[in-house]
Amino acid sequence: MKENRKIVLIGTGMVGMSMAYSIINTGGIDELVLIDVDKQKAKGEAMDLNHGLPYSFTHMKIKYGEYHECDDADIIVLCAGANQKEGQTRLELVKINTNITKTICEEIKKTKFNGIIVVASNPVDILSYVVYKVTGYDYHKIIGTGTMLDTARMRYLLSEFLSVSSDDIHTYVLGEHGDSSFVSWTNCYVGCKTLLSYIDENKYDMNDLNHIYEEVKNAAYDIISKKKATYYGIGLALNRLIQSIFNDEHNILCVSAYQNNEYNIKDIYIGVPCIIGREGIIKMIKLPFNEVDQGKFEHSCEVLEKTKSSIKKEISN
Ligand code: NAD
Repeated sequence: MKENRKIVLIGTGMVGMSMAYSIINTGGIDELVLIDVDKQKAKGEAMDLNHGLPYSFTHMKIKYGEYHECDDADIIVLCAGANQKEGQTRLELVKINTNITKTICEEIKKTKFNGIIVVASNPVDILSYVVYKVTGYDYHKIIGTGTMLDTARMRYLLSEFLSVSSDDIHTYVLGEHGDSSFVSWTNCYVGCKTLLSYIDENKYDMNDLNHIYEEVKNAAYDIISKKKATYYGIGLALNRLIQSIFNDEHNILCVSAYQNNEYNIKDIYIGVPCIIGREGIIKMIKLPFNEVDQGKFEHSCEVLEKTKSSIKKEISN
Protein backbone atom coordinates (compact mmCIF):
# COMPACT_ATOMS: atom_id res chain seq x y z
CA MET A 1 0.00 0.00 0.00
CA LYS A 2 1.09 3.55 -0.68
CA GLU A 3 2.12 6.19 1.88
CA ASN A 4 -1.21 8.01 2.01
CA ARG A 5 -3.68 5.72 3.77
CA LYS A 6 -7.07 6.46 2.29
CA ILE A 7 -10.51 5.12 3.19
CA VAL A 8 -13.78 5.75 1.39
CA LEU A 9 -16.78 5.19 3.62
CA ILE A 10 -20.07 4.57 1.80
CA GLY A 11 -23.08 5.02 4.08
CA THR A 12 -22.68 7.70 6.72
CA GLY A 13 -25.32 6.45 9.15
CA MET A 14 -24.82 5.35 12.73
CA VAL A 15 -22.52 2.42 11.90
CA GLY A 16 -20.34 4.26 9.40
CA MET A 17 -19.95 7.31 11.60
CA SER A 18 -19.20 5.22 14.69
CA MET A 19 -16.36 3.70 12.70
CA ALA A 20 -15.20 7.15 11.58
CA TYR A 21 -15.23 8.45 15.15
CA SER A 22 -13.34 5.40 16.34
CA ILE A 23 -10.72 5.88 13.59
CA ILE A 24 -10.18 9.52 14.56
CA ASN A 25 -9.43 8.40 18.09
CA THR A 26 -6.99 5.70 17.00
CA GLY A 27 -5.24 7.59 14.20
CA GLY A 28 -3.03 6.01 11.57
CA ILE A 29 -5.26 6.97 8.63
CA ASP A 30 -4.49 9.98 6.39
CA GLU A 31 -7.68 10.48 4.46
CA LEU A 32 -11.35 9.64 4.96
CA VAL A 33 -13.91 10.37 2.27
CA LEU A 34 -17.62 10.17 3.09
CA ILE A 35 -20.18 9.15 0.47
CA ASP A 36 -23.91 8.84 1.03
CA VAL A 37 -27.01 8.92 -1.13
CA ASP A 38 -28.06 11.70 1.26
CA LYS A 39 -25.30 14.16 0.27
CA GLN A 40 -26.27 16.76 2.84
CA LYS A 41 -25.86 14.20 5.59
CA ALA A 42 -22.40 13.19 4.38
CA LYS A 43 -21.40 16.87 4.11
CA GLY A 44 -22.67 17.59 7.62
CA GLU A 45 -20.87 14.54 9.06
CA ALA A 46 -17.59 15.62 7.44
CA MET A 47 -17.96 19.12 8.93
CA ASP A 48 -18.75 17.76 12.38
CA LEU A 49 -15.75 15.38 12.41
CA ASN A 50 -13.38 18.05 11.06
CA HIS A 51 -14.41 20.44 13.82
CA GLY A 52 -13.29 17.88 16.40
CA LEU A 53 -9.83 17.34 14.88
CA PRO A 54 -8.07 20.07 16.91
CA TYR A 55 -8.91 18.05 20.03
CA SER A 56 -7.92 14.68 18.59
CA PHE A 57 -4.40 13.31 18.44
CA THR A 58 -4.43 12.72 14.72
CA HIS A 59 -4.07 14.72 11.52
CA MET A 60 -6.50 13.53 8.94
CA LYS A 61 -8.12 14.87 5.82
CA ILE A 62 -11.88 14.30 6.08
CA LYS A 63 -14.28 15.33 3.38
CA TYR A 64 -17.52 14.61 1.60
CA GLY A 65 -16.92 13.05 -1.83
CA GLU A 66 -18.15 11.27 -4.93
CA TYR A 67 -17.30 7.83 -6.30
CA HIS A 68 -14.21 8.97 -8.25
CA GLU A 69 -12.53 9.20 -4.81
CA CYS A 70 -12.38 5.38 -4.92
CA ASP A 71 -9.74 5.61 -7.70
CA ASP A 72 -6.82 5.80 -5.27
CA ALA A 73 -8.47 4.51 -2.07
CA ASP A 74 -6.88 1.61 -0.17
CA ILE A 75 -10.08 0.48 1.54
CA ILE A 76 -13.76 1.03 0.82
CA VAL A 77 -16.09 0.40 3.74
CA LEU A 78 -19.73 -0.38 3.00
CA CYS A 79 -22.14 0.69 5.73
CA ALA A 80 -25.01 1.76 3.48
CA GLY A 81 -28.48 0.34 3.70
CA ALA A 82 -31.47 -0.19 5.88
CA ASN A 83 -30.84 -1.37 9.43
CA GLN A 84 -32.79 -3.88 11.55
CA LYS A 85 -36.01 -2.61 13.08
CA GLU A 86 -37.48 -4.00 16.28
CA GLY A 87 -38.48 -7.67 15.82
CA GLN A 88 -36.81 -7.91 12.41
CA THR A 89 -34.06 -10.45 11.63
CA ARG A 90 -30.97 -9.43 9.66
CA LEU A 91 -31.98 -11.79 6.86
CA GLU A 92 -35.23 -9.86 6.36
CA LEU A 93 -33.17 -6.91 5.07
CA VAL A 94 -31.82 -8.96 2.20
CA LYS A 95 -33.81 -7.66 -0.79
CA ILE A 96 -33.54 -3.96 -0.10
CA ASN A 97 -29.89 -4.08 0.90
CA THR A 98 -28.92 -6.33 -2.01
CA ASN A 99 -30.28 -3.71 -4.40
CA ILE A 100 -28.51 -0.87 -2.56
CA THR A 101 -25.23 -2.83 -2.50
CA LYS A 102 -25.55 -3.69 -6.17
CA THR A 103 -26.03 -0.02 -7.12
CA ILE A 104 -22.97 0.92 -5.07
CA CYS A 105 -20.83 -1.84 -6.63
CA GLU A 106 -21.77 -0.66 -10.13
CA GLU A 107 -20.43 2.78 -9.19
CA ILE A 108 -17.23 1.33 -7.69
CA LYS A 109 -16.64 -0.70 -10.85
CA LYS A 110 -16.58 2.49 -12.91
CA THR A 111 -13.53 3.68 -10.92
CA LYS A 112 -9.89 2.52 -10.91
CA PHE A 113 -10.26 1.09 -7.40
CA ASN A 114 -7.80 -1.70 -6.69
CA GLY A 115 -7.94 -2.17 -2.93
CA ILE A 116 -9.90 -3.97 -0.25
CA ILE A 117 -13.66 -3.75 0.32
CA VAL A 118 -14.92 -4.20 3.86
CA VAL A 119 -18.64 -4.90 4.21
CA ALA A 120 -20.66 -4.20 7.37
CA SER A 121 -24.21 -3.78 6.03
CA ASN A 122 -26.61 -6.59 6.86
CA PRO A 123 -27.15 -9.40 6.21
CA VAL A 124 -23.39 -9.10 6.07
CA ASP A 125 -22.54 -12.63 4.84
CA ILE A 126 -24.97 -12.30 1.94
CA LEU A 127 -23.96 -8.74 1.05
CA SER A 128 -20.27 -9.68 1.04
CA TYR A 129 -21.19 -12.34 -1.51
CA VAL A 130 -23.17 -9.75 -3.50
CA VAL A 131 -20.09 -7.48 -3.58
CA TYR A 132 -17.96 -10.39 -4.77
CA LYS A 133 -20.43 -11.38 -7.47
CA VAL A 134 -21.20 -7.90 -8.77
CA THR A 135 -17.62 -6.55 -8.76
CA GLY A 136 -15.87 -9.77 -9.76
CA TYR A 137 -12.86 -8.69 -7.65
CA ASP A 138 -10.50 -11.11 -5.89
CA TYR A 139 -12.41 -12.63 -2.98
CA HIS A 140 -9.44 -12.36 -0.62
CA LYS A 141 -9.94 -8.60 -0.87
CA ILE A 142 -13.65 -8.58 -0.03
CA ILE A 143 -14.12 -9.04 3.70
CA GLY A 144 -17.37 -9.01 5.66
CA THR A 145 -17.31 -8.11 9.35
CA GLY A 146 -19.03 -11.47 9.86
CA THR A 147 -19.10 -12.54 13.49
CA MET A 148 -16.46 -10.05 14.68
CA LEU A 149 -19.04 -8.22 16.76
CA ASP A 150 -20.63 -11.44 18.10
CA THR A 151 -17.13 -12.65 19.01
CA ALA A 152 -16.40 -9.40 20.87
CA ARG A 153 -19.69 -9.74 22.74
CA MET A 154 -18.83 -13.31 23.70
CA ARG A 155 -15.33 -12.35 24.88
CA TYR A 156 -16.73 -9.45 26.89
CA LEU A 157 -19.44 -11.50 28.59
CA LEU A 158 -17.13 -14.42 29.32
CA SER A 159 -14.54 -12.01 30.67
CA GLU A 160 -17.11 -10.51 33.05
CA PHE A 161 -18.38 -13.96 34.07
CA LEU A 162 -14.95 -15.47 34.71
CA SER A 163 -13.21 -12.28 35.89
CA VAL A 164 -10.44 -12.83 33.34
CA SER A 165 -9.31 -10.11 30.92
CA SER A 166 -11.02 -10.37 27.52
CA ASP A 167 -7.47 -10.34 26.05
CA ASP A 168 -7.10 -13.85 27.46
CA ILE A 169 -10.48 -15.17 26.34
CA HIS A 170 -9.82 -16.96 23.06
CA THR A 171 -13.15 -17.83 21.55
CA TYR A 172 -14.98 -17.29 18.27
CA VAL A 173 -18.64 -17.02 17.44
CA LEU A 174 -18.80 -18.80 14.10
CA GLY A 175 -21.13 -19.08 11.12
CA GLU A 176 -23.80 -16.62 10.01
CA HIS A 177 -23.82 -13.18 11.63
CA GLY A 178 -27.35 -13.99 12.74
CA ASP A 179 -29.54 -16.50 14.50
CA SER A 180 -27.71 -19.62 13.27
CA SER A 181 -24.32 -18.54 14.66
CA PHE A 182 -22.66 -20.91 17.14
CA VAL A 183 -19.66 -21.43 19.40
CA SER A 184 -17.38 -24.43 19.11
CA TRP A 185 -16.82 -24.86 22.86
CA THR A 186 -14.01 -27.38 22.47
CA ASN A 187 -12.02 -24.74 20.57
CA CYS A 188 -12.21 -22.05 23.27
CA TYR A 189 -9.37 -21.18 25.65
CA VAL A 190 -8.77 -19.13 28.77
CA GLY A 191 -5.12 -18.22 28.40
CA CYS A 192 -3.75 -21.54 27.18
CA LYS A 193 -6.17 -23.68 29.20
CA THR A 194 -9.27 -25.08 27.52
CA LEU A 195 -12.43 -23.21 28.50
CA LEU A 196 -14.22 -26.49 29.26
CA SER A 197 -11.60 -27.56 31.80
CA TYR A 198 -11.48 -24.02 33.22
CA ILE A 199 -15.23 -23.88 33.91
CA ASP A 200 -15.18 -27.39 35.30
CA GLU A 201 -12.43 -26.50 37.78
CA ASN A 202 -14.31 -23.39 38.81
CA LYS A 203 -17.61 -25.25 39.37
CA TYR A 204 -19.45 -23.77 36.40
CA ASP A 205 -21.12 -25.87 33.73
CA MET A 206 -22.43 -25.90 30.17
CA ASN A 207 -25.68 -24.23 31.27
CA ASP A 208 -23.66 -21.14 32.16
CA LEU A 209 -21.94 -21.13 28.77
CA ASN A 210 -25.17 -21.73 26.87
CA HIS A 211 -26.80 -18.90 28.78
CA ILE A 212 -23.96 -16.54 27.79
CA TYR A 213 -24.22 -17.61 24.15
CA GLU A 214 -27.99 -16.88 24.20
CA GLU A 215 -27.20 -13.38 25.48
CA VAL A 216 -24.74 -12.90 22.62
CA LYS A 217 -27.20 -14.21 20.04
CA ASN A 218 -29.97 -11.92 21.27
CA ALA A 219 -27.76 -8.87 21.95
CA ALA A 220 -28.75 -6.99 18.79
CA TYR A 221 -32.49 -7.60 19.40
CA ASP A 222 -32.08 -6.50 22.99
CA ILE A 223 -30.15 -3.32 22.15
CA ILE A 224 -32.51 -2.44 19.28
CA SER A 225 -35.53 -2.75 21.61
CA LYS A 226 -33.83 -0.34 24.01
CA LYS A 227 -32.17 2.24 21.70
CA LYS A 228 -33.37 1.39 18.16
CA ALA A 229 -29.97 0.46 16.65
CA THR A 230 -26.51 -0.90 17.46
CA TYR A 231 -23.43 0.93 16.26
CA TYR A 232 -20.58 1.56 18.73
CA GLY A 233 -19.57 -2.11 18.91
CA ILE A 234 -19.49 -2.57 15.15
CA GLY A 235 -17.79 0.82 14.74
CA LEU A 236 -14.93 -0.38 16.94
CA ALA A 237 -14.85 -3.76 15.18
CA LEU A 238 -14.54 -2.02 11.81
CA ASN A 239 -11.73 0.17 13.12
CA ARG A 240 -9.94 -2.95 14.40
CA LEU A 241 -10.26 -4.68 11.03
CA ILE A 242 -9.06 -1.61 9.13
CA GLN A 243 -6.03 -1.15 11.39
CA SER A 244 -5.18 -4.86 10.93
CA ILE A 245 -5.20 -4.38 7.17
CA PHE A 246 -3.19 -1.15 7.07
CA ASN A 247 -0.65 -2.38 9.63
CA ASP A 248 -0.38 -5.81 8.01
CA GLU A 249 -0.89 -7.29 11.47
CA HIS A 250 -1.54 -10.91 10.55
CA ASN A 251 -3.83 -11.17 13.56
CA ILE A 252 -6.78 -13.56 13.65
CA LEU A 253 -10.25 -12.08 13.34
CA CYS A 254 -13.55 -13.87 12.87
CA VAL A 255 -14.68 -12.31 9.60
CA SER A 256 -17.03 -13.31 6.82
CA ALA A 257 -14.83 -14.97 4.21
CA TYR A 258 -15.49 -16.55 0.83
CA GLN A 259 -15.44 -20.33 1.09
CA ASN A 260 -13.48 -22.29 -1.45
CA ASN A 261 -13.54 -25.73 0.20
CA GLU A 262 -11.49 -24.78 3.29
CA TYR A 263 -14.45 -25.98 5.40
CA ASN A 264 -15.66 -28.38 2.70
CA ILE A 265 -18.13 -25.84 1.43
CA LYS A 266 -18.00 -23.63 -1.64
CA ASP A 267 -19.34 -20.34 -2.94
CA ILE A 268 -20.73 -18.67 0.17
CA TYR A 269 -19.42 -16.08 2.63
CA ILE A 270 -19.55 -17.12 6.28
CA GLY A 271 -17.87 -16.21 9.59
CA VAL A 272 -14.66 -18.14 10.29
CA PRO A 273 -11.34 -17.13 11.86
CA CYS A 274 -8.92 -15.65 9.34
CA ILE A 275 -5.45 -14.13 9.35
CA ILE A 276 -5.79 -10.52 8.22
CA GLY A 277 -3.14 -8.39 6.60
CA ARG A 278 -2.35 -5.87 3.89
CA GLU A 279 -3.58 -8.19 1.15
CA GLY A 280 -6.89 -8.83 2.91
CA ILE A 281 -7.61 -12.41 3.95
CA ILE A 282 -4.18 -14.05 4.08
CA LYS A 283 -5.31 -17.43 5.34
CA MET A 284 -8.35 -19.14 6.83
CA ILE A 285 -7.89 -21.04 10.10
CA LYS A 286 -9.54 -24.45 9.94
CA LEU A 287 -10.88 -25.41 13.36
CA PRO A 288 -11.28 -29.10 14.26
CA PHE A 289 -15.06 -29.46 14.60
CA ASN A 290 -16.68 -32.31 16.48
CA GLU A 291 -19.93 -33.80 15.16
CA VAL A 292 -22.13 -31.27 16.98
CA ASP A 293 -20.12 -28.27 15.69
CA GLN A 294 -20.10 -29.71 12.18
CA GLY A 295 -23.91 -30.02 12.30
CA LYS A 296 -24.25 -26.41 13.47
CA PHE A 297 -21.84 -25.16 10.81
CA GLU A 298 -23.74 -27.02 8.08
CA HIS A 299 -27.03 -25.63 9.36
CA SER A 300 -25.63 -22.08 9.24
CA CYS A 301 -24.40 -22.69 5.68
CA GLU A 302 -27.85 -23.96 4.69
CA VAL A 303 -29.52 -20.84 6.09
CA LEU A 304 -27.15 -18.63 4.07
CA GLU A 305 -27.44 -20.79 0.97
CA LYS A 306 -31.24 -20.47 1.10
CA THR A 307 -31.04 -16.69 1.50
CA LYS A 308 -28.54 -16.51 -1.33
CA SER A 309 -30.99 -18.35 -3.61
CA SER A 310 -33.64 -15.73 -2.86
CA ILE A 311 -31.48 -13.03 -4.52
CA LYS A 312 -30.29 -15.13 -7.46
CA LYS A 313 -32.14 -12.91 -9.94
CA GLU A 314 -30.73 -9.68 -8.48
CA ILE A 315 -27.10 -10.78 -8.82
CA SER A 316 -27.33 -12.83 -12.01
CA ASN A 317 -26.09 -10.14 -14.43
P1 NAD B 1 -28.45 4.11 9.10
O1 NAD B 1 -29.85 4.11 8.59
O2 NAD B 1 -28.11 4.96 10.28
O3 NAD B 1 -27.46 4.51 7.92
C1 NAD B 1 -27.51 3.95 6.66
C2 NAD B 1 -26.97 4.99 5.69
O4 NAD B 1 -26.90 4.42 4.38
C3 NAD B 1 -27.85 6.24 5.57
O5 NAD B 1 -27.08 7.41 5.80
C4 NAD B 1 -28.36 6.18 4.14
O6 NAD B 1 -28.58 7.46 3.56
C5 NAD B 1 -27.22 5.43 3.46
N1 NAD B 1 -27.59 4.85 2.16
C6 NAD B 1 -28.72 4.18 1.82
N2 NAD B 1 -28.68 3.85 0.52
C7 NAD B 1 -27.49 4.27 0.03
C8 NAD B 1 -26.87 4.23 -1.24
N3 NAD B 1 -27.46 3.65 -2.30
N4 NAD B 1 -25.67 4.80 -1.38
C9 NAD B 1 -25.04 5.39 -0.33
N5 NAD B 1 -25.59 5.47 0.90
C10 NAD B 1 -26.80 4.93 1.06
O7 NAD B 1 -28.09 2.58 9.38
P2 NAD B 1 -26.92 2.04 10.34
O8 NAD B 1 -27.47 1.85 11.70
O9 NAD B 1 -25.73 2.87 10.12
O10 NAD B 1 -26.72 0.59 9.72
C11 NAD B 1 -26.06 0.42 8.48
C12 NAD B 1 -26.00 -1.07 8.14
O11 NAD B 1 -25.10 -1.72 9.06
C13 NAD B 1 -27.34 -1.80 8.29
O12 NAD B 1 -27.50 -2.72 7.24
C14 NAD B 1 -27.20 -2.53 9.63
O13 NAD B 1 -28.03 -3.65 9.73
C15 NAD B 1 -25.74 -2.89 9.58
N6 NAD B 1 -25.14 -3.29 10.87
C16 NAD B 1 -24.21 -4.25 10.80
C17 NAD B 1 -23.62 -4.72 11.95
C18 NAD B 1 -22.61 -5.84 11.84
O14 NAD B 1 -22.20 -6.44 12.86
N7 NAD B 1 -22.16 -6.16 10.66
C19 NAD B 1 -23.96 -4.18 13.20
C20 NAD B 1 -24.91 -3.16 13.23
C21 NAD B 1 -25.52 -2.72 12.04
